Amino acid sequence: MAIATINPATGETLKTFEPIADEVIEAKLELAQQAFKKYRQLPFEQRALWMQKAADILERDREIYAEMMTLEMGKTLKSAIGEVEKCALVCRYYAKNAAQFMADIPATTDASSSFVRYQPLGAILAVMPWNFPFWQVFRFAAPALMAGNVGLLKHASNVPQCALKIEEIFREAGFPEGVFQTLLVGADKVGNIVADDRIKAATLTGSEPAGESLAANAGKNLKKVVLELGGSDPFIVMSSADVAAALSTAVTSRMLNNGQSCIAAKRFILAEEIADEFITGFVEKFEQLKVGDPMLPETDIGPLATPAILKDLDNQVQNCIQSGAKILTGGRPLSEKAGNFYLPTILTDIPPNASARQEEFFGPVALVFRVADIEEAIELANSTSFGLGASAWTTVNSESDRFISELEAGAVFINGLVKSDPRLPFGGIKRSGYGRELSIQGMHEFVNIKTVWVK
Ligand code: NAP
Repeated sequence: MAIATINPATGETLKTFEPIADEVIEAKLELAQQAFKKYRQLPFEQRALWMQKAADILERDREIYAEMMTLEMGKTLKSAIGEVEKCALVCRYYAKNAAQFMADIPATTDASSSFVRYQPLGAILAVMPWNFPFWQVFRFAAPALMAGNVGLLKHASNVPQCALKIEEIFREAGFPEGVFQTLLVGADKVGNIVADDRIKAATLTGSEPAGESLAANAGKNLKKVVLELGGSDPFIVMSSADVAAALSTAVTSRMLNNGQSCIAAKRFILAEEIADEFITGFVEKFEQLKVGDPMLPETDIGPLATPAILKDLDNQVQNCIQSGAKILTGGRPLSEKAGNFYLPTILTDIPPNASARQEEFFGPVALVFRVADIEEAIELANSTSFGLGASAWTTVNSESDRFISELEAGAVFINGLVKSDPRLPFGGIKRSGYGRELSIQGMHEFVNIKTVWVK
């Protein structure tokens, strides 16, 4: 994949980049290693000052960064501004809490003193996707850098300007040279970089094939990996639920980031009693959404990030229809417009053996199912290979208890939108990946949990 900025709303190639040469990769790895030696010794207060400065810069230039994201991958400008603000929030969160998260934990044993000490590992490689070009990187970098690690970013090839800007932000904030570096390289270079002794661990957010490949390389080299992969999150609405609230959250959730979010609700599982009411409202709301120029404030849905994503999504929809499903609205690209636009789409009556039931639809397409009871709802929700998030709507306590304990997911939200929050861990089970980001658990992924025993 070429490293380039191609406007998804017009198809125009705006800027291309040469991948950096092997010698440059070598120099950057060496710089990271050298930077780590000094950086790890610095007090938390110093790192926190720089991290707060990074938050100030993000807030100061939020429009510039937001426009860059919209230009490179098509999210609406208003959502991009929200994304920059969330990055500032995660920087401030770790600036404030890192010292406490990394403090020694005493343990009473047969020693005169024994405790657990958290220490940084060194250079961590982050392989990141285009869908939240700033947020994905900051949610890795804020805890990693506050822990005393140094970061190397291999960003998705379609967001190179965002990748370079993020390095600039950390530099301007005051972080020493080599503490955070962007590597403009293709995916073909990741294997060798992970194998390099100077890289101590890696994290990847992206597709299953990319996760498998990174995990295999890291496994061969005995290195730890965190994987945040795909999802096909269920959104379950029981008969006792506030249907109006569920409906408006369902639309928001499915349409997050033009439908390209790992934790977007993708399968809508409706109790028979409320299904007709919900579906009527769902179709109405989908048809009211404005698809168009992501820079305009009135736009709800921008283009998909690349022509390949548009083509893959349309193939999935057409296969689903051929397997016997029905379209309630949408079901095709918006070919009247240049760019990668797809109509908000709802599919129903999806046959039990349709492959769509097992797939992730990465775009504005909702799959709707009807169920007779909670038993069937949970079984259907758990029937995919993914396990990222789940949203369930009910006012019956015994039902929420069952959802919390029986849904196979890294997160369960009752009567709310599945979202990431610096204060709570984020990640999946099953083929959605392993390990956690955010909160104290995310910070502890890339540290040596050292046992100390003294007599
Ligand atoms: P992708 O193709 O896997 O790309 C993600 C990153 O991995 C890019 O930097 C890409 O580089 C790199 N990459 C691709 N193939 C690789 C390989 N064989 N070895 C090493 N690196 C490789 O992902 P995508 O399709 O663009 O992103 C969408 C996927 O990400 C969806 O499945 C979505 O659900 C998932 N996602 C998950 C989360 C989460 O937190 N769980 C969050 C967001 C997205 P190039 O761009 O150079 O190919």
